[in-house]
This record gives sequence, C-alpha cells and structure tokens, in this order.
Amino acid sequence: MTTQQRSISQVWNVVPQRGRGPHLQVAQVLAPVRWSDFDPFLIMMEDWFGQGTFDFHPHRGMETVTYVIEGKLKHEDNHGGLGILEPGDVQWMTAGRGVIHSEDPLPGETVHSLQLWVNLPRAHKMTQPRYQDLKAAQMPVRREPGVEIRVFSGSSGDVKADTLNHVPVTYLDLKLEPGAKVEQAVPASYRGFFYILEGEGTFGANNTPGEKNQVLWVNALEAGDGTASVVTVEAKTALHALWIAGKPLHEPIAAHGPFVMNTAEEIQQAFVDYHSGNFAN
Ligand code: MN
Repeated sequence: MTTQQRSISQVWNVVPQRGRGPHLQVAQVLAPVRWSDFDPFLIMMEDWFGQGTFDFHPHRGMETVTYVIEGKLKHEDNHGGLGILEPGDVQWMTAGRGVIHSEDPLPGETVHSLQLWVNLPRAHKMTQPRYQDLKAAQMPVRREPGVEIRVFSGSSGDVKADTLNHVPVTYLDLKLEPGAKVEQAVPASYRGFFYILEGEGTFGANNTPGEKNQVLWVNALEAGDGTASVVTVEAKTALHALWIAGKPLHEPIAAHGPFVMNTAEEIQQAFVDYHSGNFAN
C-alpha cells in the first residue's frame, strides 16, 4: 500500500490584538465564522488575561479544549465542578446539553492559554456534560531523537491518549530540536492544521515554510480512510507547534455565541433553557 504525503493548502498569520480591561491580548487562530471550512472545529482563540475576564457564562452543543501555557487558571461550574489548571495542563470539556462556568486566573496571575472549540455531532449535542482534565505530568509522550510529542488526544506513533472523543480528534503538542524531523499519520478523511508557537520549520509534501504565529492548513483527501497518509515536519530552529486534526461532521450549523446547534429553533430553545435554569441539572 502506498502512503500519501499530505501537503499544506493554506497558510495564514495570527495577529494578537490588544484586549479590554483584564483581557490583555487576544488572537484569533481560527476566526469565526468559517464553519464549513474548519469543520469539525469552530474557532480557536489564544488569550492573555487576568482575573475577571471570563466570568460565569453558558455553553451548549460543543466542546471546549483549553491548553494552559502560562499561569494558573481556576475553573468552576454550575454542576459543582472546581479545579485549577496549571501550565502544560489541558481541560477537555464537553458542554453537551449545558454548562455554566467561569474560567478565572488565580489572584495576580496572567494566564496565557489556547482554547479550541470542537463541534458535537447532532446525535451528541445534548449529551451529559463531561470533563477530562489532562494533567501535564500524566500526558502520554512520544519520544524520538530530537523530538518530543505530547499526545492530548488521538495517537502519534505507538503512543495513544485515552481521551474520549465524540468526534475523532488528534491533538498533539510537538517540540523538535533544530534539524529534527518527524512523520505523523493522518486518516485520509481528516483535515487539520499546525499552529506554530515558537521557531520555524518546513511542513508537508512541498516543504512549505512556517514560523511563529502562523497556521498551516491541511485539507482532507478525496480518498477513503483505507488510504494511508502522513504529514511531515522538519524543524529549522527549535520548534514548538501544535498539530490538530479531525474528521468533518458535514452537518448544518446554527451558532449564537457559546451555543452551537443545528437549527435556529434549537438556539432559541437553548436561550429558553438557560434563562429558566434548565442548565443546572
Ligand atoms: Mn467558556
């Protein structure tokens, strides 16, 4: 069986903007509202913030994946959930039929984090809310010469995360030494992207160059999942990048703020349920 080399189809720059008040800076990695382009992903934001930025607010019909890079972040919700995320930790929150939560740095802390929103398939939008706290110390790690890959979800080489998915997602945190090279398997039906946090390198079949603050997008293949495919990364300098890929849902999207459903009626129902306290159980 031949293995197809995936190539980069699009590159864009992510530009941090000054925020408001304690929200010091914000950058749109995946900007709204390119739902069908990014499916199964909705948005991804990079934030730098202090206390009081993300007070209690609701979510329904989607998942938030929060990766804390710097600072300590307190998480509290209406189901009695309470926890602190530290640098290197990831929280995979399935909002399902409804979560009301706050995401607040500890006093005096500035948190630098990345938050990805993953859509839920129609059949799972009203699922029971679920939290998976992926602690840095317990994260599965693939190691090869000059390469360290932390596996938040899915697998890399022989290393597999046990993170539960409603929609299949591979989420990797890659660190490569200068000159190091690695190959990552990608199911043909997946689309995905690199987001470069530090350094520079070359990516995919055409050795597309990429550097800090760039997104490099990879389209799905026409072929079925019986076709093996890989994407390659080679570091030019010390490189820190994310690889995030998933299987598109191809379902209609109706979105309003933190509610992401399939129809306008379901969005209206989300508001009714939220205001009548139906997110509390
Ligand atoms: Mn939230």
